[in-house]
Amino acid sequence: MKDIHDECGVFGIHGHPDAATIGYLGLHALQHRGQESAGIATSDGQDVRLYKQMGLVADVFNADVLKTLTGTSAIGHVRYSTAGSSTLLNAQPMKCMYAGGSIALAHNGNLTNFATLRHQLLARGHLFQSSSDSEILLQLVAAHYAPTLSDRVAAMMTQARGAYSLVILTADQMLAVRDPHGFRPLVLGRLDGAPVVASESTSLNLIGATYEREIEPGEIFIAGPGGETSSRPITSPRLARCVFEQIYFSRPDSIVFGKQVNTLRTEFGRQLAREQPVPNADVIIPVPDSGTPAAIGYAEQLNKPFAMGLIRSHYVGRTFIEPEQRIRHFGVKLKLAPVPEVLKDRVVVVVDDSIVRGTTSQKIVDMVRSRGAREVHMRISSPPTRWPCFYGIDTPSRKELIAARLGSLDEIAGELTADSVGYLSVEGMHRVVSGGGGDGYCDACFTGSYPVPVEDQYSPHSGPDDNR
Ligand code: 5GP
Ligand code: SF4
Ligand code: MG
Repeated sequence: MKDIHDECGVFGIHGHPDAATIGYLGLHALQHRGQESAGIATSDGQDVRLYKQMGLVADVFNADVLKTLTGTSAIGHVRYSTAGSSTLLNAQPMKCMYAGGSIALAHNGNLTNFATLRHQLLARGHLFQSSSDSEILLQLVAAHYAPTLSDRVAAMMTQARGAYSLVILTADQMLAVRDPHGFRPLVLGRLDGAPVVASESTSLNLIGATYEREIEPGEIFIAGPGGETSSRPITSPRLARCVFEQIYFSRPDSIVFGKQVNTLRTEFGRQLAREQPVPNADVIIPVPDSGTPAAIGYAEQLNKPFAMGLIRSHYVGRTFIEPEQRIRHFGVKLKLAPVPEVLKDRVVVVVDDSIVRGTTSQKIVDMVRSRGAREVHMRISSPPTRWPCFYGIDTPSRKELIAARLGSLDEIAGELTADSVGYLSVEGMHRVVSGGGGDGYCDACFTGSYPVPVEDQYSPHSGPDDNR
């Protein structure tokens, strides 16, 4: 089962005359969380309308489409998936009819008992249109008989395990729901009195909404004709907020899990410099954009010059057709261009947020060295990524992770052809994030200590046997 892995962003607003347009803007700010499909569902008190397509938010929607999305409430979704599951059927929001009328749902996260739930539902005669675990959530809500939607959602929460931050829309209600572990972020804000929810606060900033708080782990927030209510039917067994949101995935201008991401990333860089200094460094350069805040912190801590030694092109779409054969491997060159005057004859420290397979990093080392750098040292502002994620971040199987394949830093440096490589320690990461031992956070991709057992072992790129 390869088709169920999503990295996503969600958005919702209730009781605003410009719901669809605000949803469009809110999703635009979450585009980094998913670039393959985008969708918005709106409701006007009577019915739910839905429009979704493959593509970027700005390409999927235009004024004519937004005009058809009438109503005063909206939920939206952006999705990234692995290649195999890149179909419109898996795009979100998902919509169906249930006993209470139309209902639409959008999901960020990944269920760990996906296959079990799907088999159970299929055995009971449920039909599925997609291979997405989000449809399972929708069916669990729709199929469970209970007097109120809130009760149905609470019942779903006793069955679904793993990571889910959800927005749900009916004819007259909008719900925001977060799994009891709190893996994925979800924040609540306000615009002209209307409640707004979004994966990241950058959405709130763009539309001019004020930030209020996180949707709490295990919380069901409901906005409807009767006003706003909030309940926590499930208490958190163990908080497991995804530390990788703060390392790489979220935008630096967002507040995630109550912390400003840019501040944390800069501090990861400072801590990295304390742990893994390069005393003879001439210049510190980031791998833009994700490595930039950490490189600034690293340079500040060592009191060394920071410079943009690599320039990122922002015009490389996912649809770019790579030339075949002789001129292949253009990927990194299209995305990053070296600045020779920054690199020539220098001892260069290249700072990035993470290394996954190592293929990009190796090409970056090549690129920097070919422009005359005397030494090239890679410094990574997170610990070695050694384990796949089963909670909604796209990581490959263990055998593809360079830090799992190779035993020592020297071997990794060898494969990257770098003079040295250094990572942030797990302890250092936790000191920055929480001032201590990592309580309340998931760090499984670094430690292999999975906070929620992976019942149905799958990952987007691997079968059950090669994950551990
Ligand atoms: P590698 O050297 O492993 O090929 O690539 C490392 C780069 O991938 C880093 O710059 C890092 O920012 C980026 N990266 C890390 N995690 C992810 C992810 O989940 N998705 C994408 N698209 N890039 C990632
Ligand atoms: Fe986040 Fe890593 Fe945990 Fe996945 S395994 S939820 S990426 S910290
Ligand atoms: Mg990067």
